[in-house]
Amino acid sequence: MIQHPILILNDPAVRAALKQAWQESKPGVSGGHEEGGFILRDTAGNLSVARWPKGAQDTIILPPRPNCRIGGKDIVASFHTHPNTGSDYLQEPSETDKRAIRDAPDLKGAFYVGEFVISMDKVYLITPNGQVSEIGNSRDIAG
Ligand SMILES: [Zn+2]
Repeated sequence: MIQHPILILNDPAVRAALKQAWQESKPGVSGGHEEGGFILRDTAGNLSVARWPKGAQDTIILPPRPNCRIGGKDIVASFHTHPNTGSDYLQEPSETDKRAIRDAPDLKGAFYVGEFVISMDKVYLITPNGQVSEIGNSRDIAG
C-alpha cells in the first residue's frame, strides 16, 4: 500500500523524529548542517525513522539500502534538513537533491513516496521522478 505523504508526516513517531533531526541540524543563518534519514514501515504498518550518520557540512553519506528495504522494513520515504536560513543558502531542494532522488537505483521501491526536505518555513517533497512540491509548513511538522 502506498501511503499518502501527508499521512506519513502526520504519524506521531515520524513527527517526533523529524522535529529532533531539525533541532539537531542547528537551524540558523549559518553554521547548520544537514541531518536526514529513512522513514521505514514494518509488516504491521508501524512507521519508524532510521537516521543517517552525520556527514560533512552539506554532504550526507547514505547507508546502503538494497531493494528499497532496510532490516526487513520498507523504505516509504526519506528526508533531510536545510537548516541554513542565510541568503547564500537555497531553501528549496537543489538540482543535486532532485537528481539524487531521481537517479537513486535503490530508491525505486513501490512504496517509496520520495524525499522530504525540511527548511525553516516549508516542507518540500521530491518525488521519485525528481519533481518538487511544497507539502506543508515546517512549523506544523517540526515545531
Ligand atoms: Zn538538500
